[in-house]
Amino acid sequence: MQTPTQFRIDSLEELDRLISQHAEAYYTKTGEVFVCKNCGAEVQEVHAYISLHTTLFSNCAGSGKVKQVGIPYCPNCELTPNNRGCVHLNDLI
Ligand SMILES: [Zn+2]
Repeated sequence: MQTPTQFRIDSLEELDRLISQHAEAYYTKTGEVFVCKNCGAEVQEVHAYISLHTTLFSNCAGSGKVKQVGIPYCPNCELTPNNRGCVHLNDLI
């Protein structure tokens, strides 16, 4: 999947849910590893830093808080996810 950028979510749980939904849709577990449903390649992961921004401003602004998230991707079917992104939350924690 691609690293979310300026993606509006209601809570950080929604970010986790987006990742698991993508994984369920495109990957399948074989033994101990996840593989791509499309090509069978082993799913890779980028450790991305997601800045937590607020929807109070239209541009990217926030508390400076960052969450590290593993973004899964198929090396054949998907572009390597960016190692930086951001989400825009209504309530900054
Ligand atoms: Zn694939």
